[in-house]
Amino acid sequence: MAEVAVLGAGMVGIATALAVQARGHDCVVIDRAPVGSQTSYGNAGIIQAEAVEPYALPMSPLALLAMAFGAKNALDLHWPSLPRQVPALSAYWRNSLPSALGKVIPLWRQLVSEALECHGALIAASGADGLIRRDGYWEAHATEAGFATAIRNAERRRQLYGLDFAIADPAGLSRAEPALRGSLAGAIHWTSPWTCRSPGELVGAYGKLFEAKGGHIVSGDAHTLTRAGAGWQVAGEDVERVVVALGPWSPSLLATLGYHVPMVRKRGYHRHYEGDPGLSRPMLLADHSVVLSPMRQGLRIATAAELSDAAPQVHPRQLARGEAVGRALLDLGPPVEPVPWSGTRPCLPGMLPLVCAAPRHPGLWLHFGHGHQGFTLGPVTAERLARAMDGDRAAIHGLDRGMR
Ligand SMILES: Cc1cc2nc3c(=O)[nH]c(=O)nc-3n(C[C@H](O)[C@H](O)[C@H](O)COP(=O)(O)OP(=O)(O)OC[C@H]3O[C@@H](n4cnc5c(N)ncnc54)[C@H](O)[C@@H]3O)c2cc1C
Repeated sequence: MAEVAVLGAGMVGIATALAVQARGHDCVVIDRAPVGSQTSYGNAGIIQAEAVEPYALPMSPLALLAMAFGAKNALDLHWPSLPRQVPALSAYWRNSLPSALGKVIPLWRQLVSEALECHGALIAASGADGLIRRDGYWEAHATEAGFATAIRNAERRRQLYGLDFAIADPAGLSRAEPALRGSLAGAIHWTSPWTCRSPGELVGAYGKLFEAKGGHIVSGDAHTLTRAGAGWQVAGEDVERVVVALGPWSPSLLATLGYHVPMVRKRGYHRHYEGDPGLSRPMLLADHSVVLSPMRQGLRIATAAELSDAAPQVHPRQLARGEAVGRALLDLGPPVEPVPWSGTRPCLPGMLPLVCAAPRHPGLWLHFGHGHQGFTLGPVTAERLARAMDGDRAAIHGLDRGMR
């Protein structure tokens, strides 16, 4: 009988299992799908050492309206879904106010600053080095005015947080990326992030490491979770403690136990393209809010947020715009998949992930809500959760906000 069951085999769940196991606990992971095959598969693959400020909403009503109506492609709003998202969204907006954000940034920044070291240890131990590039990504701008604003913002972040970046003018960008055609005003090269050419495979490699060290990964449904004496039973496994790491699906399981966890569900799409445009590292097209990431399967175009609880679009507007801009810049070739992939960023209104014990259920722990940066932060918060489960409650200080 395992001591701990981790529900969910995404980046967050597998990292949790490894951290719990490293502290000497026998652990089983339960998922209904293959390891790393959901949100942790479909992301842009950036381990975001530069993302030291959480992803806030704009404050100005005009900027919000522009966003809601699709300016910069950052948001696609499915208006009929809006009423159901309003409570979580309005809390998210309140937490985007500079005064609220200022309280979150120190902890967020601390977490992000630990990401490369945490991943580095797991990458080395799992032999996954071949999936990783350690040369950052481009933030590219189409207009000179936009580029100038971005440089000022980057300088501000360098001064405040000591972040490294380099500036490439159009000629420098063409030299670095000869496959690019068309005109860009320039790019900021964020030099410290690492990027991954197959995010699902990286989670898979971490999963194999967990198994090689004696852990088990079992196929099963988390919704079979029930109390069993002083412990729990789930998917036929009797365990003392359970960690809910179901990413965007976590609130629906917790609702069955009487917990209401508001979540802003930001859907993203991606599609791969067969052409080999030869981009050397991922490129965020800032004016269009899409990331072009060279992946094993081809060049992946990943979109920003669609706020919708309707079925995913077969021809998502944000991806269509990303593809059109991508084709103007690079030789993309035909798409690999017949329809785009979609997945949901699990964003909590408080900006920070939830890492805590469930208040009314002994032995139940929560670990989800990493929003835009779960691929980056999974191993960092996993380490803190594992310490807290062993009694070091200070390890999760600030990460248990808002749970009732
Ligand atoms: C387009 C896009 C781009 C992104 N880019 C980046 C990026 O560049 N960098 C970054 O850091 N983050 C990025 N993110 C965010 C990141 O992908 C997520 O925060 C992260 O993958 C969440 O991981 P997770 O383990 O919590 O969830 P998941 O990977 O979704 O794992 C949850 C698991 O729970 C399982 N599950 C659900 N319900 C059940 C059930 N009933 N029974 C059993 N199992 C169940 C699922 O099968 C799944 O395997 C991006 C997200 C998107 C959508």
